[in-house]
Amino acid sequence: MKHHNVIDPSLSRVRILRLEARALNVPIICMACETAPCIKVCPMNARVRQANGTVVTDTEVCIGCRACVYICPVGSPEANPFTGQTMTCDMCMADTDEPWCVTACRQEGALTMAKGERLTTSTVRERAGRIRAILPSR
Ligand code: SF4
Ligand code: SF4
Repeated sequence: MKHHNVIDPSLSRVRILRLEARALNVPIICMACETAPCIKVCPMNARVRQANGTVVTDTEVCIGCRACVYICPVGSPEANPFTGQTMTCDMCMADTDEPWCVTACRQEGALTMAKGERLTTSTVRERAGRIRAILPSR
């Protein structure tokens, strides 16, 4: 909503993976990893780290090739269904004390803003592996 001025789940930068068999909802979100492989792989140098640490797509140059989606350990970048360009959470560009989703959440404590160390890519991979391990086999 913050970036598109509409409420449209297809434009959300936080995706929910629903695991019916385990009655689990797993949020998929950019971890802004330390040595972000999406930055290295992008042929247009469109994946850029912002001052607040988040890694975002520069829509001026993104060509929608999705290389960043395939290289990301958690498959976080989501393609905008209208433009084909990728999107990831930017903490609402830190123009408020907390991201809008945290402000808007009415489920007490479900979302909080935590300050922590940036995760290494290997830690992100390890966490993604834990999610994969509970996914039903295909
Ligand atoms: S989690 Fe994925 S999209 Fe986010 S910085 Fe790391 S590689 Fe890039
Ligand atoms: S989809 Fe855009 S941001 Fe992602 S790798 Fe391709 S050009 Fe770069």
